[in-house]
Amino acid sequence: MASGFYKVPTAVNEPVRSYAPDSPERRELLETYQKMYGEKVDIPFYIGGKEYRTGNTVDIHPPHDHQHCVGQYHKAEREHIELAVEKALEARSKWAATPWEHRAAIFLKAADLLAGPFRYRMNAATMIAQSKNVFQAEIDAACELIDFLRFNVSFMTEIYSNQPQSAPGMWNRMEYRALEGFVYAVTPFNFTAIAGNLPASPAMMGNVLIWKPARSQVYSAQVIMELFKAAGLPDGVINLVTGDSATITEVLLDSPDFAGVHFTGSTPVFNSFWETIGKNIDRYKTYPRIVGETGGKDFIWAHPSAHPQEVATAISRGAFEYQGQKCSAASRAYLPKSLWSTIRAAVEKDLQSFKMGSPEDTANFINAVIDKRAYTKLSGYIEQARKDDDADIIIGGTCDDRTGYFIEPTVIVTTNPKYETMCTELFGPVITVYVYEDNDWEQVLDLIDNTSEFALTGAIFSGDRYVIETATNKLENAAGNFYINDKPTGAVVGQQPFGGARASGTNDKAGSVWNLLRWTSNRTIKETFVPPTDYRYPFLGK
Ligand code: NAD
Repeated sequence: MASGFYKVPTAVNEPVRSYAPDSPERRELLETYQKMYGEKVDIPFYIGGKEYRTGNTVDIHPPHDHQHCVGQYHKAEREHIELAVEKALEARSKWAATPWEHRAAIFLKAADLLAGPFRYRMNAATMIAQSKNVFQAEIDAACELIDFLRFNVSFMTEIYSNQPQSAPGMWNRMEYRALEGFVYAVTPFNFTAIAGNLPASPAMMGNVLIWKPARSQVYSAQVIMELFKAAGLPDGVINLVTGDSATITEVLLDSPDFAGVHFTGSTPVFNSFWETIGKNIDRYKTYPRIVGETGGKDFIWAHPSAHPQEVATAISRGAFEYQGQKCSAASRAYLPKSLWSTIRAAVEKDLQSFKMGSPEDTANFINAVIDKRAYTKLSGYIEQARKDDDADIIIGGTCDDRTGYFIEPTVIVTTNPKYETMCTELFGPVITVYVYEDNDWEQVLDLIDNTSEFALTGAIFSGDRYVIETATNKLENAAGNFYINDKPTGAVVGQQPFGGARASGTNDKAGSVWNLLRWTSNRTIKETFVPPTDYRYPFLGK
């Protein structure tokens, strides 16, 4: 077999297409959207490369038009999950032994296919079933997933090239093995890129997976499976299962071959995983890797030296893009009294200009929230704020679910910095503002640090370098992704590795070398060239 130290293509971020009026990409994407919208798909689950249909199905409805049906997916039963474990382990022996350059080539090919022939289908699927506008779909389903695939290949080689020193007479080597067993990938509804990356990154490192997407993301999850297949991923390496989350999780976490979980979603669900893994710890063949990116209560803080228009734009984009359903979305803001009226007027102007409706109309900045459950939860918080004396809805607040689950972008102002919507993750287009006395700016930093259990993203705005330094230090543990004079959303793979600590997760930074390190188990090899033949050391001599 021929050998070489192969250099992988340099990873660069996929350029974001504009979808401007009359652009070819806009025409092609909308044509794909309309075609898919008029079809009914029948989505199987995939085990060992085979498609399974049980007849026990769930209909798929676009959140912005919940009476419309774009197809159905089939639910797996317990026996299918057990089969998925069997098939994954069967695939493992060959996959884990596949040279890294062949694994890399598959995922590089997947990136190129997504940048080319799969781009519009992936984006359209994300627009339809997750209610993302054209731009939000492009930066997520196309660009971010392409970036994850390309950059991770490069991070993988960075890891493999990390080798120990060798003293004279020996050669020390570090081998990077796949984990011994299977990895369970559990993905959220809000990012198609995360859904693709969570199974792909451990697979790239030689692991086999069972992947369970969120029910509202199954529509684009199927396109991801087709993409991986088209790229040549061998059968059984990634097994996509859909069905009852609790049953799937129970079967997989019960298995002695469970070797790790790659989770993104809410904190309580991740905590329940951790608890079950703890209870089952004696039954596993190896200590499982537990990687989870979870909730957030992301903040924007402005100092009196901040530029009010910059703060306003950060709020309008950072809190409301994708209906505030980004884990990084700003949902609490701390603004100085001296700037408040200017910021408020600018945000009000922005929000009045937002159009809301179906993603098919590209003029809509805002689309629907994901499902009835999210709608009911969000409208409940808005209703409560109407009643509470210490809260005031100053912008938005209208909810309408006749056609789709539409929640108008809403700004609540509170006089109570510990008001419920300042502390709890709502995951929707609602931001709560606390206006503070200018002189209290330093105490407010402590307040931000102590208000929420989360520490995912946060943004500070100031024109004063000493203030920026103070805030950066005081908020050291308040966010895993910290922004200075920028909105707290929009992390780019290779530029701002993403993840938070405290109740926001294990901070293993998706799309980075730190994340990939969790999916390999090293073996150190020491080879001695001329081994000693006498046990006696010199010190034993007289
Ligand atoms: P979720 O917790 O409801 O679901 C996440 C996944 O867990 C889904 O696949 C779901 O089916 C599964 N799940 C739900 N209940 C389960 C159970 N009892 N047993 C086993 N599996 C179960 O989250 P979501 O609504 O899909 O996504 C929103 C959440 O994800 C928010 O809290 C958001 O902050 C978080 N999120 C975090 C990041 C990050 O990087 N930190 C990124 C995206 C989303």
